[in-house]
Amino acid sequence: MGETASLTELTAKYLRQTADLFGGELYIDTAPPAVEAESPGTLDDFRAEICECVKCPLGSTRTKFVFGVGNPDADLVFVGEAPGRDEDLQGEPFVGRAGQLLDKILVAVNRTRDDVYICNILKCRPPENRTPHQDEIDLCMPYLERQLEMISPKLIVALGATAAQALLMVKTPLGKLRSQVWKWHGMDLVATYHPAALLRNASFKRPTWEDFQWIDELMAEA
Ligand code: SF4
Repeated sequence: MGETASLTELTAKYLRQTADLFGGELYIDTAPPAVEAESPGTLDDFRAEICECVKCPLGSTRTKFVFGVGNPDADLVFVGEAPGRDEDLQGEPFVGRAGQLLDKILVAVNRTRDDVYICNILKCRPPENRTPHQDEIDLCMPYLERQLEMISPKLIVALGATAAQALLMVKTPLGKLRSQVWKWHGMDLVATYHPAALLRNASFKRPTWEDFQWIDELMAEA
């Protein structure tokens, strides 16, 4: 009998505390049982899913869809502007002269294409290599977002003003975007010159080299 009274007292105390905390309402956890998250799949799966895209007009003028190449677990990802003529023909980013220069820069900081991942803001070539239009960027960006979230690198390097401005959604000149670490979807992002700019203007070589040395330091700290 004494045990029953004690239990009643404990129950009453519990209800008083519950009322104090929740204003007298009784809360019952009705959350559905946890459902196992759908597998995100691989980058190859994602490529297969979107490689026929014609969401923007570039889908009907491209020769080849240019998804991206490299290590799917890369800590370091480079994002350029859009495929050029050589990339459009081969279906791979950065394979022309600018790509060869990027390879040399990577070697100078003790890396190769196999260590990093390389892609572009757009996956299809704009005619005559014109600058991507904003509506094309807007339509293609969700693909890049998913791609980078799947890779989840420690650092994203935007190559050139178009890539940096598209990712950061600003119009700030590249010179003012360099030399600082930005956040993009929770990941670190820095901006430097596009290798094609170095081919056009040799004065960009020194600041680019300084940027890559800094990038190397950032990666060592990450
Ligand atoms: S550029 Fe992007 S959005 Fe436009 S067709 Fe190609 S993949 Fe689709």
